[in-house]
Amino acid sequence: MTHSTAPGTEYDTVVVGAGPAGLMAAMKAAERGTVLVVEASSMPRDKSCGGMLNEYAQAFLAGIAPLPQSMVRPPACINFRYVDWDRGIRKPTSLRFLNVDRREFDDWLVSLLPDNVDVAASSPVKGMAQDDAGVSVTVRVDGEDRMVRCNNLVGADGARSAVRRTLGEGSVSTYVTLQDFCKLEGELEPYFDCIYMRDIGDSYAYSYIVPKGEWGLVGSVYYPKTKRPHEKQDQTMQILRTSLPQLGETVKREASVALHVRSAADVVPGRGRVLLVGEAGGFMSPTSGEGISYAMNSGAAAGAAIASSAPDDALAAYAHSVDHIAANIRRKLRWLPFMESAWGKYLAGFVPTPIVSKVTEGL
Ligand SMILES: Cc1cc2nc3c(=O)[nH]c(=O)nc-3n(C[C@H](O)[C@H](O)[C@H](O)COP(=O)(O)OP(=O)(O)OC[C@H]3O[C@@H](n4cnc5c(N)ncnc54)[C@H](O)[C@@H]3O)c2cc1C
Repeated sequence: MTHSTAPGTEYDTVVVGAGPAGLMAAMKAAERGTVLVVEASSMPRDKSCGGMLNEYAQAFLAGIAPLPQSMVRPPACINFRYVDWDRGIRKPTSLRFLNVDRREFDDWLVSLLPDNVDVAASSPVKGMAQDDAGVSVTVRVDGEDRMVRCNNLVGADGARSAVRRTLGEGSVSTYVTLQDFCKLEGELEPYFDCIYMRDIGDSYAYSYIVPKGEWGLVGSVYYPKTKRPHEKQDQTMQILRTSLPQLGETVKREASVALHVRSAADVVPGRGRVLLVGEAGGFMSPTSGEGISYAMNSGAAAGAAIASSAPDDALAAYAHSVDHIAANIRRKLRWLPFMESAWGKYLAGFVPTPIVSKVTEGL
């Protein structure tokens, strides 16, 4: 269970955001000195998410600590399946995911932090400024603004990163996401289904369905600036329930955003003594929507760069170490026009299942 601390006035590193990117950055940066993690929301936090850990996320965690089985929900391991809803085509792939409760997963990551890391929940960062000697951060604690000084700052504040905006690096556009928790009234097939439909309109990108214990999670991704997304989601749910009556009543609906990475320029490692990690830095798969492995890997790379460098040199070391992640994102971006087009989604239905499986491995 997360313990929140009132922030002090000086730290070696301040991390903004307690998602997987920020927590991994904090864990590694703590090898150089004291760290403060500031999180705007209360903790344990609720991050809207399918809670699917792909093989890269699992491989990363294998090097950190054994993942407690208590956070895994049945069916524990499920394969990704491409679904063309209109034509009733289903193509299972060999991509295998671990099915976890996201809130418990995030809270477990917090529990791995060493003792020289303070975590301040319900403490949004309101501003920051860099000078030659370090970074000053304004944090709101119990309604009052406090100044915290540090040698390096890590912006891990997600898709709508204020740290990134303050650096003058602009924002990346964002998809609108809605995720329904449906009480299951029968078993769903044990797949992580990714569903494409064409007739529902241009604002619709795709939906996913994940069986998670007693719940069926139905998430839908709508393109940026979609109007009346809740109405769209109601419509999507109605269509899905025609063939999936197991999806009982929606007990909870979460609205969120996900990064809509469109160009290589969206990936920015930081500026000066400020390092951007996870979605704040544009690190996310533009094609699959998978972000946890990108967040943890970029966060750990930033923390390791801080731990092994002088404050002025940390950004260069970090940028170098995430070159391969940026290259991976550039490669995936080449698929995007195909995947976002109606003809691309349609054509995938004709591709033999082993090839769909092979291609999704690279996405
Ligand atoms: C609906 C949905 C489903 C998804 N499903 C999956 C999935 O199944 N598998 C997968 O791998 N990825 C999935 N993702 C993506 C994944 O959740 C993210 O990519 C990942 O959480 C990014 O981690 P992060 O640490 O960069 O940012 P986040 O997890 O977004 O954390 C950022 C944190 O910063 C905090 N913050 C923001 N502003 C401030 C501020 N001013 N001061 C202090 N704190 C601040 C926020 O409160 C937040 O806690 C999904 C995303 C969405 C939206």
